[in-house]
Parts: sequence; structure tokens; C-alpha cells
Amino acid sequence: MGNDLEKVLLSESEINARLDQLAAAIDADYKGRDLLLVGVLKGAIMVMADLSRRLHTPVQMDWMAVSSYGSGTKSSGVVRILKDLEADLHGRNVLIVEDIVDSGLTLSWLLGNLRSRGAASVEVATLLRKPEAAKVNVDVRYVGFDIPAEFVVGYGLDYAENYRTLPFIGTLAPHVYEGRGA
Ligand code: 5GP
Repeated sequence: MGNDLEKVLLSESEINARLDQLAAAIDADYKGRDLLLVGVLKGAIMVMADLSRRLHTPVQMDWMAVSSYGSGTKSSGVVRILKDLEADLHGRNVLIVEDIVDSGLTLSWLLGNLRSRGAASVEVATLLRKPEAAKVNVDVRYVGFDIPAEFVVGYGLDYAENYRTLPFIGTLAPHVYEGRGA
């Protein structure tokens, strides 16, 4: 796997340090309030596990899986629910936990969908955000890192279902995309 990686963009210790800060900010904002974390499968599993364990605020967890229709690697904003939430959102404070916001189209759809279910509040925490995300008006309250417009893997993020278990975020060597490494 070592040869497949081009560079490490964010090390495990950088991710951990930033998660400490995000958790402190979330604790401060939700002090004394009920909070439901909604993880978006599959990419958000690592950030969900590590962020939630840093919180002192008592939380519940639920999961959603969506697929975004688009051409190639670009998302179109047309989203299909593959797995829906089990929780009733009525009156709840909801925090969507995302791995990465790229175009922001998926998240924008998700925000609208969850808000329409009667939640008291719906906010977003994402570990990573790419520059394109700024083009759509999607309000992301907690951002771990703004990163360049490069395809990244690791820490929950995959390429063809591989690399999710890497403890850091990195970019892939071009030969992987050319079909020799993945
Ligand atoms: P968008 O914000 O464009 O609607 O789509 C976001 C989704 O595209 C993410 O949840 C993730 O599944 C996928 N995605 C976007 N950028 C990357 C990336 O750099 N690496 C990986 N592995 N997935 C990405």
C-alpha cells in the first residue's frame, strides 16, 4: 500500500489535535442540551467514532447512507437514501457528522431533508472541506481542515473501497488511478 500513496496531507496527530478543538467547541455550544449525532456512511465512521468519544455532552448516534447521482466523480445534488435514520428528529438538536464536503451538493440536500423532519436545529461538522464547497450556500458550523481540491483517502475515505483504515489523510499516486495499483 505504501507505493500507492503520494503524500500525507494530514497526519494522525494533526487530526487528533483538531478533533480535540472541534469537540471542545461542540461541548461549549451544546452544553446542557440533548444532541443527536447523524453520521453519513461510510466515510464518516472514523470521524464519528473519534469525535464522539471526545465529547462530554451526552449524545445519541444514528446513521444515514445516501448515494449521489452524478457524472464520474462529480456529484449532481440528486440524492437517493440508501439507509434512513431510525431516530425521530422532532424537536431534536441534530449534528450531521461528515468526512468531507466537496461540491456541497450532497450536504445541502441532506440539510434540507433533515430540517423538514421537524428538528429543533440541524448543524454540520465536517473533518474536511474543499474549496468548491464555498460555491453553494451551505452553512457548515464546524470545519476540521480546509484542503486543496485534490482527491484524498484515509481516515474513513476510500478509493474503490480501499484505504479507509489508514490513520491519516493522504493523496494517491497517479498510477493508482491509471488502474495498476487499486
Ligand atoms: P459533494 O460535496 O460533492 O456532494 O460530495 C461529497 C461526497 O463525495 C463525500 O461524502 C465523499 O463521499 C465524496 N468525496 C468528495 N471528495 C472526496 C475525496 O477527495 N476523497 C474521497 N475518498 N471521497 C470524496
